[in-house]
Amino acid sequence: MFFCFTFGLERYKRKSGHHVWHCPNCQAKDVYYIKNNECFTFCFVPLVPCGSTKKLYECQTCGWVNVQQPNF
Ligand SMILES: [Zn+2]
Repeated sequence: MFFCFTFGLERYKRKSGHHVWHCPNCQAKDVYYIKNNECFTFCFVPLVPCGSTKKLYECQTCGWVNVQQPNF
């Protein structure tokens, strides 16, 4: 018998809203408002959200991240 119980903390990113901004780094219109959560997981299943929710803006093309809303 093989049991695999794993505990862990995982970060979950959720796109929030539908507004898309232009990235100041790569100029792509691909910057989304992201809510970044930490969750306590059991067997890779998120159970309890813990920690603070971080809100940030992230470019899906180049990975540019900022906590403030882009100007354009
Ligand atoms: Zn970018």
